[in-house]
Amino acid sequence: MCGEPRASDAGKKAVLMGWVNRRRDHGNLLFVDLRDRSGVSQVVINAERNAAIHEKGEALRNEYVIAVTGTVKLRDANTVNPNMPTGEVELVADELRILNESKLPPFLPSDTALTNEETRLKFRYIDLRRDVMQFNIELRHKVAKAIRDYLSAQGFFEIETPFMTRSTPEGARDYLVPSRVQPGTFYALPQSPQLFKQILMISGFDKYFQIVRCFRDEDLRADRQPEFTQIDLEMSYPQPERVWEVVEGFLTAAFRAAGSEIKAPFPRMDYDEAIRLYGIDKPDLRLPAFTDVRECFARENLQQLAVNANLPVVAIRIPKVGELSRAERDSIKPLFVSKGGAKLFEDFKRIEKNFPEVAAKIATKSGTDAGDLVVIVAGSAQTSSAPTEAQSLIPPHRKVTPQELAIYASAGLLRLALAQKYAERHGIFKKTGDPEKDFRFLWVTNFPMFEWNEGEKQWNAAHHPFTSPHEEDMPKLETGVESMNDPQSALNSVRALAYDVVLNGTELGSGSIRIHRQDVQRRIFRALGMTEEEARSRFGFFLEALEYGTPPHGGIALGLDRIVMILAGAESLREVIPFPKTARAVDLMVDAPTPVGEKQLRELGIIIRKSRE
Ligand code: ASP
Repeated sequence: MCGEPRASDAGKKAVLMGWVNRRRDHGNLLFVDLRDRSGVSQVVINAERNAAIHEKGEALRNEYVIAVTGTVKLRDANTVNPNMPTGEVELVADELRILNESKLPPFLPSDTALTNEETRLKFRYIDLRRDVMQFNIELRHKVAKAIRDYLSAQGFFEIETPFMTRSTPEGARDYLVPSRVQPGTFYALPQSPQLFKQILMISGFDKYFQIVRCFRDEDLRADRQPEFTQIDLEMSYPQPERVWEVVEGFLTAAFRAAGSEIKAPFPRMDYDEAIRLYGIDKPDLRLPAFTDVRECFARENLQQLAVNANLPVVAIRIPKVGELSRAERDSIKPLFVSKGGAKLFEDFKRIEKNFPEVAAKIATKSGTDAGDLVVIVAGSAQTSSAPTEAQSLIPPHRKVTPQELAIYASAGLLRLALAQKYAERHGIFKKTGDPEKDFRFLWVTNFPMFEWNEGEKQWNAAHHPFTSPHEEDMPKLETGVESMNDPQSALNSVRALAYDVVLNGTELGSGSIRIHRQDVQRRIFRALGMTEEEARSRFGFFLEALEYGTPPHGGIALGLDRIVMILAGAESLREVIPFPKTARAVDLMVDAPTPVGEKQLRELGIIIRKSRE
């Protein structure tokens, strides 16, 4: 047999190959923990049984690669190790071969105290030998396979699309690849296969998916990587609900592969409602929503508090925080970032003292229990109706005005900051083992089509420019385009057939029903400030393709790395990507990027400027 021996193998001959995880020398007895992909097994080398291999065994060091032939034996009861799957048995060695030696690595795969991340990434091959990394990479494989199997069974074809292509607008900078054959020209690595998957619908492959690498040159955060993997899909003739059903299906399969039974369909919420209830377009449903407590106050109360009575007054409740000292209450203030006109009342005690009836109503309306923390966010009386910078922060929406949005968004950020700060006390983020509580999925729908870019004074696509507006908002597109340099234009209230799937406050993926008519696509490009000429030069091929009988279509893309990260309970994407890059987009193991030689540059017709301009 090969692989981990178990009690049922007792008496059998076995061959084990792997690394020396640890070696313990007890004189005539040598114990070697041998590690392979399936785990760790104990090998015993007994000098009395075989002096020659005992001598060889003495030369063994950590991370040597060995092959051992021997007999599986049940351990004595007092030496059974219940913490190891192979803990009931050991392999008594008859033969030992050293297949390769190893230098002493900078850290050992068996070390429990982790060395710094730079060293881990530089010696990634050692790091990947660690249990948890082996677990994470196996989990990634199982999740990807479950998704592939599910989608294939649903009739989707996995179809590859090019990496060397031209720019696709997903809102980041492109990574460019210079062409040697045509000096001065560049391919762009795809930010997503968006246009290709749409073209595949035009080509008659009515159900496409791809687990595919995407490349975006943007400022990195813990949950971003310059190259990352999407589960990308597209279908012909779907209603949004059909796309959601497919996603729910493959996520159920993926979570099952990781041992969690989740429930579908996921709840759905309008973008507008998400803003009103959570102040963010990716609500974490594990925490209580806001309560609108404006009506708990009489107008005079609001006046006394210098609060604008026409704007929302929002109570944020964080459960089970317990009594806070004065200093602790004061420490809440710096967490509050006002997005313009929003003010904070962090001392609910003072409201209780000065307005006892109001406080009682708020407590009832928000379902506050003893020990819950309640803070109030409202609009300041002075900044009543002037438009605020918040317009550029989150897209304004037809129902939530920019002034309201400023209050909701400020409250939304504070809600999350407070929930983080008191995470130990309320324990809501701790896994319970019940997937229904641990994984709170949500569809957020009906996003605004456009968002106003204050810096560039123009409208941007909130999702991407191939997203279809709502049929009934099409006329607004016409009037909106006429005043498209105005943040108040009718474009403000055009809704998109776009949707996001959210898990525990993290956006897992975004998608939309697409524009399938060339005239509508042109109008959208125009609304985005693109001249006819620009549109033709960037997307001419696509506009042309749209003219050849394009079926209605739609799709979505989800981040595979993020899903695996959540399932692995990992802190960063780097824990679930075999060869990730640092926050400075560097691969420390292979040392990339690097300068290239003069000859190569010359061939590509590239001259490097000495200093960046
Ligand atoms: N291409 C989009 C993205 O990468 C997803 C989609 O609309 O399907 O976000």
